[in-house]
Amino acid sequence: MHLTLFKSPGLLIVVIIFSSSIAKAQLMKENDGLTAKEESIVTIAAFTANGNQKNLSNSLYEGLNAGLTISEIKEVMVQLYAYAGFPRSLNALNTFMTVLRDRKQYGINDAPGKAPSPLPMHKTKLELGTEVQTKLVGAPVKGEVFEFSPAIDQFLKEHLFWDIFGRDNLDFKTREIATISALACVGGVENQLRSHFNVGMYNGLTKGQLNHLVSIIQKKVGQKEGDEANAVLQKILNPGGAITNTTEKKYTGTTEMAEAIFPKGEKITNNHFSGNAWLETLVADDNIYHTQVGNVTFEPGARTNWHFHPGGQILLAIGGTGYYQEKGSDKKILRKGDVVKCPPNVAHWHGASADKEFIQIAITPPDKGSTVWLEPVSDKDYNSILKTP
Ligand code: MN
Repeated sequence: MHLTLFKSPGLLIVVIIFSSSIAKAQLMKENDGLTAKEESIVTIAAFTANGNQKNLSNSLYEGLNAGLTISEIKEVMVQLYAYAGFPRSLNALNTFMTVLRDRKQYGINDAPGKAPSPLPMHKTKLELGTEVQTKLVGAPVKGEVFEFSPAIDQFLKEHLFWDIFGRDNLDFKTREIATISALACVGGVENQLRSHFNVGMYNGLTKGQLNHLVSIIQKKVGQKEGDEANAVLQKILNPGGAITNTTEKKYTGTTEMAEAIFPKGEKITNNHFSGNAWLETLVADDNIYHTQVGNVTFEPGARTNWHFHPGGQILLAIGGTGYYQEKGSDKKILRKGDVVKCPPNVAHWHGASADKEFIQIAITPPDKGSTVWLEPVSDKDYNSILKTP
């Protein structure tokens, strides 16, 4: 047997591939946490945000010893003025200067690192900042608050996303580690923390790395802050897990309620919907089933933006009355029991009718790519005449 194994090159190759894939899997498992440098960014950002200079000083020693450069650490502190305010950033930069001076006295010369490249100015700052923001988040960012205050939208885009995020001495992933860690320690910013966990994942942070990040906050910064951040994170990672039946029985309006089968879930807070909608994830994507199943409840008048799914989508109407429209086709009505196959890469929208809520099950295979979000559905399209009732 032993000899035959080595006489058969095919089998030998199989054995080698098999053992190397085991080694790879083990390596990936071990690496599914933050590196020592990233760990230090968590504590540096957290103590910059909460103003604890003594602990910040210790974290700076750890970070520099782990190989963070002066440029990288400075950039974290500069970025965090947008999340924790100028006073906290200036205090942190002062502490950092002291740490560097002390280390120099002991003969340690820390690596200066790469200075940011000069920012190109071939377009307006607003255009450039909008591009960076869209790239970072994965879709254009819109919201009622930005219509209410166009000034803050402009400053976010021109200043935070262009002047700061446009600098290339920190990548998006590292910037999100810093932002998440700071927000976890600012308090009262659960919505922003939730968004940044999602943006972090979009920019390559894994579930293991985010769990690791939160555990560092719990152990090294504060149990309370860590626990609160963990509650937000676990709701994102296991949406069905901790939620008991949150189905609301009543609307404040006089609109008709459909009978719910599944829990209503969490109110959707992203900018891809008009009106109020709720999502309960019934099946999260995994390596066995390769699909997402969600229960979506639209209140009357609420709808998605135009969008398409690279892997297509199946909609099962399970309550109320809704609409479905593909680009270039007429709007269709959906009633309980209707099944819709949304073809891959075909722009469409779905939502509730104007006076009745709508509940759908959306089955979305994400393997070919995430949903691509487009512009909101105009009232003209939404109110277009039903030609195929
Ligand atoms: Mn869809």
